[in-house]
Parts: sequence; structure tokens; C-alpha cells
Amino acid sequence: MSFETITVAPDFKKYLPKEYQDLIDDGPFVRPRKVSELGSFKEAIEEHPMCAGCAMTLFIRLTYVALPSLEHSVIVGTAGCGRLAISQGAVPFIYGNYGDTNAVASGLKRGLDIRFPNQPKDVIVMAGDGGLADIGFHAVMHSWFRNEKFTTIMLDNEVYGNTGGQESGMTLKGTVMKMAPLGKKGEKMDMIALAKTSGVAYIARLAPTNPTRVVNTIRKAVLIAREVGPTYIQAYTSCNIEYAIPTPLVMDDAREVEQDRYGFMEYFTDEAKNYWDNTGRKIKAPIKK
Ligand code: SF4
Repeated sequence: MSFETITVAPDFKKYLPKEYQDLIDDGPFVRPRKVSELGSFKEAIEEHPMCAGCAMTLFIRLTYVALPSLEHSVIVGTAGCGRLAISQGAVPFIYGNYGDTNAVASGLKRGLDIRFPNQPKDVIVMAGDGGLADIGFHAVMHSWFRNEKFTTIMLDNEVYGNTGGQESGMTLKGTVMKMAPLGKKGEKMDMIALAKTSGVAYIARLAPTNPTRVVNTIRKAVLIAREVGPTYIQAYTSCNIEYAIPTPLVMDDAREVEQDRYGFMEYFTDEAKNYWDNTGRKIKAPIKK
């Protein structure tokens, strides 16, 4: 979708829902937005069916603010809680089969680059820990080894929240869940180390405690992926249902987990650092009006 595609003929505009009019008059397609503006403009995603207070929904909302070129972006996801919200956004969303998100994204990104050689197109995989570290693991790893130029964002809630509380590879050792009553036997997978080993250009780990940092980090990852190679963001996005976190305490939990074991870290390859310092950080999103 492009801004031109969603812009309607002036005479027809009055027949469209107010929500649509807001999207083309004052939405995120018109000009880049800041975190401080949230709540004052029509966002690319607003309504969704996820649980009240779910940290994942906040992270997804921030992702739409962060994307440097919303109308030239495609998000690829799969089964899991996150796609319930992502599929409601005003950005094309491809629902890959479980396991193949990064394979779909690879083909999509290559095809878009051939079809639109003069227009950067951003592909972003956004899925849960089950979709990426377990069922989609093989496709994630091979997209990294192949140096595919797109961003992978893991919404790490450390559980299969959508299906009632099974342990995932990202669940901490010893955790007892509804569908893992004996406690997890293995360690949490170190996907950060695996990303480094497989040559990922930019890696970040963070919790949603600092919205501006979340936005800046995602934007950085997408821009580096455009020019240098694969990027990976691993975000702690708790499941308040399966971990029995009272809704008002979701951000308190995020802060505690961040301090304990999920502190912000980022890693660049030399090439990515060179690109970011000399070129990437200076790129501004275009203003349409
Ligand atoms: S089940 Fe958990 S991860 Fe899924 S929407 Fe509810 S709180 Fe969020």
C-alpha cells in the first residue's frame, strides 16, 4: 500500500468513515511521528482483540510509530497472540504458515527489490518466541546465514500464550506453566548468541519500559537491514495471563525483568556500525504534505 493508494478522490471523501478520513488527513503516512505525539493522531493500529494491558500490544503499537517508511513496509507474522493485533494495522500483513515466516520474508524482500529497484521496501518479521525460536527456528537461522536484508522482531513473552501456556524454547528453566506442570527442563535459548554467530548485522535486546528507545531501536534495525544485512530485535513482552501478572503491574514487571536479566543491549557488526554512524542515522522520513 502507498499513500497514493489510500488517498481518495475529493468528492468521494465525505462518504468514507471518519476513521479513514483521519488516516489520510492526519495519520502516520503523512509525516513521521514521535512517541510524544501518541494519542494525538490517527495511528496505523488502534483497535485489536488482545488481552487488556498486554505488553505485546504496546510494543506493536510502538513498532508502527517506528517504521521509517510505513507505506513501503510489509509485516510478516504467523500464529500467536501478536498477529491478532498486527493483522488489524493499516500496513500489509502476510500471515505465514507456522515455521516459514523468515522463508516467506526472504522471497518477499527479494521480489520487492526486483520489482521496485528505486524504492526501498522494508520487510519486517514480527512473531512470538514460539514462532521464531521453536517452530520457525530453521527458517530464521537460514535467513540470517543467507544475509537476507530484513528485520526479525521476536515478541518474547516466554510462553505459548495463545494456546494456553505451553513452554517455549525461550521460557526460563524451571518455569511451571499450565501446560508444563513439571517445570521446564532446558535452559532459555540464547537467540542473541545465535544471531551473532550467524552474522546478523545489528542485534538489540530490550523491554518496553522506554518507548522512545523502542522506537529508535526498531527504526535503526529497519534502516540497517535495508542496506547492510539481517537485523534482529528481541523484546520482552510479558504475557500477563499465563504469568498471572495483574494488569496494572505489567510495566512494573517489565522494569523488574529488565533490571534482572533483560537489560538493553545492542550489537553491531563493523559494517553495520560504519553504515549507521555515517549514513543511516541521518536518514529522515519524507513528509507528504
Ligand atoms: S494471552 Fe498473554 S500474550 Fe496473549 S494477548 Fe493475552 S496477555 Fe498478551
